[in-house]
Amino acid sequence: MTRLVVRWLRIPAAAAGVVIGVAWVLSLPFNCTITPWGHTLNLCNGGLDVVLRTAVPANDWSVELNSPLEPMRWWFQVRVYTWSPPYIFVRCPLWPFMLAACGIGAAGFVLRQRLTWGMCPRCGYDLRGVAAARCPECGRET
Ligand SMILES: [Zn+2]
Repeated sequence: MTRLVVRWLRIPAAAAGVVIGVAWVLSLPFNCTITPWGHTLNLCNGGLDVVLRTAVPANDWSVELNSPLEPMRWWFQVRVYTWSPPYIFVRCPLWPFMLAACGIGAAGFVLRQRLTWGMCPRCGYDLRGVAAARCPECGRET
């Protein structure tokens, strides 16, 4: 797990965190809508609203100034509308993804620094000069 985060996830996670953070900031003043294959993706107010339809209008896109009356997207929401034509509405706030990506990226950089400095990746104990196969502080295999 440590190796996976340090070697493979560190940079992609940090980059994803930055991209999601920029999208979150841009979603505050702007309302970006794309309509691929009749579904609607609407980025605004810190969240992504997805409308999945069965009826298929034309592809479309738009970027507009945001309405200040729109609520912030802090929480997830799923609604199924059964009227004709039926559609599914999913609201995803961006902040959980931003936090997770930044957290994984930051953890990867910290772990990498500990490994290059000869420290235990779990507890940070200085392992230089320690011959044992386990960290004497926390018992993690070195
Ligand atoms: Zn340790």
